[in-house]
Amino acid sequence: MDQTPESNHLSSEDEPKQTLLRLASDVRVCTLCRLCETRTHAVPGEGSATPLVVFVGEGPGGEEDRLGRPFVGRSGRFLTGMLEGIGLRREDVFITNVVKCRPPQNRAPRPDEVAACRGYLEQQIELLAPRVVVTLGRHSMQHWFPGERITQIHGQTREIASGRLALPLFHPAAALRNPAWREAFAVDMQKLPGLLASQGEKTVNSHQ
Ligand code: URA
Ligand code: SF4
Repeated sequence: MDQTPESNHLSSEDEPKQTLLRLASDVRVCTLCRLCETRTHAVPGEGSATPLVVFVGEGPGGEEDRLGRPFVGRSGRFLTGMLEGIGLRREDVFITNVVKCRPPQNRAPRPDEVAACRGYLEQQIELLAPRVVVTLGRHSMQHWFPGERITQIHGQTREIASGRLALPLFHPAAALRNPAWREAFAVDMQKLPGLLASQGEKTVNSHQ
């Protein structure tokens, strides 16, 4: 007989997933910074609860704010295509942002907004426990590497915790604007399969 999720007791493996769902509910009603006043939907993030990779963007744009989902506009289509190019699907990874609510007119998030939202991102990374964190753009990079320059460190991997690497990439919107950055984005993204393979026995294409 098939077991329905309801009939299962919560195993210890389900606990991170439950905590992630609770965190997402908290984000949806969060009022810790001024961005709550102008958002339509907060965007907690989405994807696998046990991803090998977490992608961290800057903040939701117009489409994301409208739908409550990360990277679903033009940048999102670019990112999704690049993922598919290395044999990953969106549902294999987790995608989120430094700030979970859209800054008005897509302005850059302010330091106090980033600081207010920081705890959510840190909890997500802790719960998701990825092998690799891919930062997308300057604001996301600065979360782990304050004072560094994206033009200098993109594509370089660094250990950010035991068994966890960061790979800083240009922001997809920047890649769409500038052919040289688009090329760099593609080259940097190509490093991911090898990194994941060298980080453990699970391989990127294990679902195929
Ligand atoms: N840009 C971002 O940084 N994040 C999104 O979710 C969408 C566009
Ligand atoms: Fe809360 Fe983050 Fe949204 Fe600010 S951006 S209201 S801290 S969820």
